[in-house]
Amino acid sequence: MGQFDGKTAVVTGGSTGIGLATAERLATEGAHVFITGRRETELEKAAAEIGNATAVPGDVSVAADVDRLYERVRERGKGLDVLFANAAIQHLARLDELTEENHDRIFDINVKGTFLTVQKALPLLNDGASVILTASTSAERGDERFGAYGASKAAVRAYGRTWANELVGRGIRVNVVSPGPVDTPLFEVFGERADEMKAVVATAVPARRIAAPDEIAASVVFLASTQSSFVHGANLYVDGGMNQI
Ligand code: NAD
Repeated sequence: MGQFDGKTAVVTGGSTGIGLATAERLATEGAHVFITGRRETELEKAAAEIGNATAVPGDVSVAADVDRLYERVRERGKGLDVLFANAAIQHLARLDELTEENHDRIFDINVKGTFLTVQKALPLLNDGASVILTASTSAERGDERFGAYGASKAAVRAYGRTWANELVGRGIRVNVVSPGPVDTPLFEVFGERADEMKAVVATAVPARRIAAPDEIAASVVFLASTQSSFVHGANLYVDGGMNQI
């Protein structure tokens, strides 16, 4: 018996990194997992790897794509028990470098995408459902060039508090997970300097390393499960102590 037997989950950004690791854990524990992301081939490959999964390609910042995702969930006829709104992009630029276009792109995907993902799920969410949003330690730090990304993640954290308040009457819990640095394709923004940047970032983590995606997934699964039944509106840092010490 898995703790998500018969349950339905949605994981956005589910073909790589933290999303994929979480989708794998949820499926292993019995959930049927809908994963979404923009790259169809990668998504199909990930769904095949996960096993008990359906790939629905789409962009979380496009309302019609999110509608299409939930239409597929609706067709399954079992509502939605776990929603992991996780898709995001990183764009690094100092204040004097940030273009309007990149500012809009990061807020469109990271903030509007999270809003659309959760708002459009409302009719499907079952009583007792768990919603988890991915923020970041960057929401509370001032690292150079992380301004737009950090601001977008601070917005996600703020949404999490309000939505927890607004949905508590339906027995729906909303929590935020804030990872520290994690070894995922998100580091590809650094190009050929990705490995060097991982090593540099690790020095800012008391644990002196960056996380594996599965270490974040374990905490998301905790928030998704009844093990966290009295955790509501929280921001769970999974950061090796980065923002704690
Ligand atoms: P990742 O790049 O592997 O995952 C991001 C996923 O989101 C990808 O699958 C990507 O295809 C998808 N995505 C991006 N834009 C999308 C869009 N418009 N529509 C649909 N899908 C889209 O990196 P990750 O590290 O696994 O990132 C997952 C989450 O964790 C993100 O919210 C990220 O901001 C957050 N995070 C990551 C780190 C880190 O160090 N890796 C640290 C803190 C927070």
